[in-house]
Amino acid sequence: MSSAYGGIEAGGTKFICAIGTCPTDLRVETQFTTTTPAETIERTIAFFKEQRIPLISIGIGSFGPIDLDPASPSFGHTTTTPKAGWAHTNFVGTIQNALGIPVFIDTDVNTAALGEYQWGAAQRLGTFVYVTVGTGIGGGGMVNGKLMHGLIHPEMGHMRIPHDWDADPYNGCCPYHGDCLEGLASGRAIELRWGQQPDTLPISHPAWTLEARYLAMGLVNIICILSPQRIILGGGIMEQPKLLPLVQEYVQELLNGYIQDPHILEGVDQYIVRPLLGKKAGVLGAIAMASQFSR
Ligand code: ZN
Repeated sequence: MSSAYGGIEAGGTKFICAIGTCPTDLRVETQFTTTTPAETIERTIAFFKEQRIPLISIGIGSFGPIDLDPASPSFGHTTTTPKAGWAHTNFVGTIQNALGIPVFIDTDVNTAALGEYQWGAAQRLGTFVYVTVGTGIGGGGMVNGKLMHGLIHPEMGHMRIPHDWDADPYNGCCPYHGDCLEGLASGRAIELRWGQQPDTLPISHPAWTLEARYLAMGLVNIICILSPQRIILGGGIMEQPKLLPLVQEYVQELLNGYIQDPHILEGVDQYIVRPLLGKKAGVLGAIAMASQFSR
């Protein structure tokens, strides 16, 4: 059997592992619930060993924050993650030692962005952003053809946005900031504010216009700072079909004609889009990362 790459989408609630080389050559895939670090990483290693497919390398797209500085002694470890028990977990080292092949890591959102760049909605774009709205909110992407890294990596979910306390008296749920974007607009925030799972809220519920407003504020900040050529909006919350058109409309309204570009003025439905790879963006991005670094 020809060799391939391993991809891991390490999420706070579930892990997805796959082996392949591209979207049309995804040979095997599995997913399981994220439990303790020891148990979850052991299960991941066991999956790759059991397949008996020769692996060249593995890419991991992980929840964060993670240490991405190759010169740091804690490179590839999670750092201050609020996920119970997972702080300071040696992700890269443990998997690399067990499988004896190179292991690469980036944030879940940068990894999904890479997948979309390689095979999806961001092909041939040098500067774009991928934002995921799920239990939490994260953002990553590329500037001038390179995945965004700096001090650590972008934490777009934690940007501060205006909060109209009269319209929305909810405090926000971010343990660090209260009413940052994630604190106000993540799936967890929707659930706590309205006392209902987001997917049970009907299309007519005021939750959705409020949600679209907050997300549009976040995207407008991103547009003004990075001037991305496209924004890809993924994650479970975006599965509410009414939400994306509302976000597009509010982004135009909030920018108020200031950015005179046809992508925003006329083609906003092609400017703020869903991931073309859908739910596979993360794991395919991890495979893309493994293959890029191994060349
Ligand atoms: Zn926050």
